[in-house]
Amino acid sequence: MLLNDKSVIITGASRGIGRAAALECARQGANVVIGYSGSASSRPAVDELIAEIEALGRRACAVGAPAGDADTGDKLVEAAVEHFGGVDVFVNNAGICPFHAFLDMPKELYLETVNTNLNGAFFAVQAAANQMKRQGRGGAIIAVSSISALVGGGMQTHYTPTKAGLLSLMQSCAIALGPYGIRCNALLPGTIETDINKDDLADAEKREYMVSRTPLGRLGRPDDLAGPIAFLASDMSQYVTGASLLVDGGMFVNLQ
Ligand code: NAP
Repeated sequence: MLLNDKSVIITGASRGIGRAAALECARQGANVVIGYSGSASSRPAVDELIAEIEALGRRACAVGAPAGDADTGDKLVEAAVEHFGGVDVFVNNAGICPFHAFLDMPKELYLETVNTNLNGAFFAVQAAANQMKRQGRGGAIIAVSSISALVGGGMQTHYTPTKAGLLSLMQSCAIALGPYGIRCNALLPGTIETDINKDDLADAEKREYMVSRTPLGRLGRPDDLAGPIAFLASDMSQYVTGASLLVDGGMFVNLQ
């Protein structure tokens, strides 16, 4: 029980990596605020996740609100305070990656991506940090960045800067929030099979290429991120802040 009775907020927890992290945190003893977009089509998955967490003997509630809104972080924190008495861990995970070429990138797509992945994250991290400071018992903030914070992508020119931005946000927040005992770290997933890339990976040749680039010989699964998130959330990493952890099966170092 790494997170016994901790109150954990995870954005983008209805599916994919966030969902796996929510279940792992609950297994480790936490109560979880599930953030999602608020879309009606996501609600059945959210209700199912709440039931799974309750079956583990923990509590969960959901907040449906666009990650790009500057006040969504306040709503998530309010829910955590109301239901679980505070916030110990904030995981900023919600994100989108709508592939598009650079030269004809629609302004709306660029702005939606930056708002969802980075601008909203800034205000949500700020809201969580202020609550942690008020509580006076420290806390852990984790941003799910990406291997794309370190490498480029021709169809991701709107996306990779948001992921580099999240990594940088965690580095600066580690300095700003260290005096309050609040640790801030970034997680950098490689290629993890989720809805975000299912169209891209439907191309068998592309999929095989990505597998061949990965020393561990397979693409990632959402569960592969759950352990690292629980670790960074817990006191097992009590002296880790401002760090970034690649969880990519070795893909990043596989240049030659
Ligand atoms: P996913 O399966 O598509 O899940 C995305 C999650 O984000 C869903 O819970 C979704 O909620 C939520 N979300 C999307 N748009 C939102 C919005 N505007 N407001 C609030 N919530 C929103 O994706 P994933 O692969 O698990 O990705 C999670 C994070 O990991 C992202 O930040 C992504 O950039 C990062 N990442 C993923 C990979 C990968 O290979 N999969 C690699 C590196 C980094 P709804 O269900 O309500 O839409």
